[in-house]
Amino acid sequence: MFSSVVTAACRVRDTAPMNILIVEDEARIASFVERGLKAEGFAVQVAGDGRTGYALACQEEIDLVILDLMLPELSGEQVLTKLRTTRPDVPVIVLTAKDAVDDRVRNLNAGADDYVTKPFSFAELSARVHARLRARDQASSLTLEVGDVELDLRGRTVRLDGRQVELTTREFTLLETFMRHRGQVLSQVQLMDRVWGYDFDPGSNVVEVYVGYLRRKLRRDLIETVRGAGYRFVG
Ligand code: CA
Repeated sequence: MFSSVVTAACRVRDTAPMNILIVEDEARIASFVERGLKAEGFAVQVAGDGRTGYALACQEEIDLVILDLMLPELSGEQVLTKLRTTRPDVPVIVLTAKDAVDDRVRNLNAGADDYVTKPFSFAELSARVHARLRARDQASSLTLEVGDVELDLRGRTVRLDGRQVELTTREFTLLETFMRHRGQVLSQVQLMDRVWGYDFDPGSNVVEVYVGYLRRKLRRDLIETVRGAGYRFVG
């Protein structure tokens, strides 16, 4: 249990493959899409019915969902409606029959980000997958807000309760790392690896020192020390 939590916290978005979930009951189509996406370097999971698909889509590591509409157990539309409550941010691309134009409009209104009509070429689907992932990354890469701490990732500025706080580059990166993993315990090794990015001297107390800087410049209670495990941002 503990190790799976740490693995999730360890995930580095820049290097780990993006996870795509295909919810499609037609095995031929599912495997065609799966093979294509894997060849492009994505990690792929497949669900053959709506219920399983919904359960898998709720997992935080899924970066994008490709959702067929005609599914056993739960329809694609039902999956989409539920998913919009549990995971409003995950991009969803709907697969729909060519003549179901009304359905398409309804689905976009229900929160699908895009749709592809069957039959489709892999190139078409792939282009849409990349476009949705790019759009999501751009939207999430401008500002990061947790509680009363706000990071402007473009301008590299920090505000606490609306007041600007001056941070060095390293302090900024450390704070960003904490904020991207709010509530998760990050070990010294993980923080060194992400923020300093080199093999470090295990005896070094540089993380502790920089956590101290952040506490002084922001607020002491933003970062908790978890004895024997590391630090946790609780902002
Ligand atoms: Ca189907």
